[in-house]
Amino acid sequence: MSKYDCLIIGSGLFGSVFAYKAARAGKNVLVIDKRPYLGGNVYCENVEGINVHKYGAHIFHTSNKTVWDFVNSFVPFNRYTNSPVANYKGNLYNLPFNMNTFYALWGVKTPDEAKEKIEQQCREAGITEPKNLEEQAISLVGRDIYEILIKGYTEKQWGRDCKDLPAFIIKRLPVRFTFDNNYFNDNYQGIPVGGYNKLIDGLLEGIETKTGTDFFEDRSYWKSNTDKIVFTGKIDEFYDYQFGKLEYRTVRFETETLECENYQGNAVVNYTDASVPYTRIIEHKHFEFGNQPKTVVSKEYSAEWSDGADPFYPVNDEKNTILYNKYYELAKKENNVIFGGRLAEYKYYDMDKVIEKALFCFRDGIE
Ligand code: UDP
Repeated sequence: MSKYDCLIIGSGLFGSVFAYKAARAGKNVLVIDKRPYLGGNVYCENVEGINVHKYGAHIFHTSNKTVWDFVNSFVPFNRYTNSPVANYKGNLYNLPFNMNTFYALWGVKTPDEAKEKIEQQCREAGITEPKNLEEQAISLVGRDIYEILIKGYTEKQWGRDCKDLPAFIIKRLPVRFTFDNNYFNDNYQGIPVGGYNKLIDGLLEGIETKTGTDFFEDRSYWKSNTDKIVFTGKIDEFYDYQFGKLEYRTVRFETETLECENYQGNAVVNYTDASVPYTRIIEHKHFEFGNQPKTVVSKEYSAEWSDGADPFYPVNDEKNTILYNKYYELAKKENNVIFGGRLAEYKYYDMDKVIEKALFCFRDGIE
């Protein structure tokens, strides 16, 4: 008899949601995490009364009412709406791409004028079927916006030429012919009041957890103590990199507390010019409308992942997709291991989709 019905490796959103459902179904669950705290990349650190998103900005948005009600049952979410500003060579533009952006760039005042401008630039570029991120971007918003707001930012973030990146990355962002600066199209959006730790604490309440505990340090011990494993780490590491290493992007944060109340007037300011080394500056207090006397800001520097760094983004290009599929074939043959989340599924997931998937996997894999 194993000690646990289910061992969950990693306490991010996938692991914590799965743990919650399994525990509610009467399973004996243990959650382990190699970091000294729970929550994976939604973990927040309180600095000067401000919830600092230690692993980068996490803005919750979803159109799935079940998911929205689910997260709100643990902690109320506020009305934060993401409206980033882009700084390009000292000029500010609204994101996502909308009439405010088009007006600032071209002086166009109506949707028809904006569409005509984009169509003209698209015709000049001769793109019919966009094959990569560059072509997709130009066909959506024209060459000017591509050059000013997309190319530099994307090449910094991914460390690759836009021609070598998949088109889907840029399709994450809305293009709107209205004066609407909301970054997301989803029906529901917000930040947990009091930070994401409240969500994780709620999900894991009453569940056994062990932090500072690395599965890979004693795999056979952990395997022999459980009937089922839910693995949320890197799938290539789970299989000892036997086909080679998948590529990830990591982010280095330069976080400072400043003796001012309001540094940039917005939670997110993107720096889209290639000559600025960071991609964006996050001012954390604005996620919760904070009025503390000080402020905390983080500059994000994107880099290629290597051992010892935190993997943040899978690089879903052709080469890595082929490699991932080899690992996926192995994963499919496992009877007692469920792989879930950004790292284990090598997928550029948003939080709501991770939760949706965990709820689905639970039904599929355990019930
Ligand atoms: N992007 C861009 N300019 C911006 C913001 C985003 O070109 O100012 C592109 C970039 O390629 C990025 C993608 O849009 O990888 C998705 O951006 P998102 O904000 O969804 O990225 P995340 O918040 O997940 O880092």
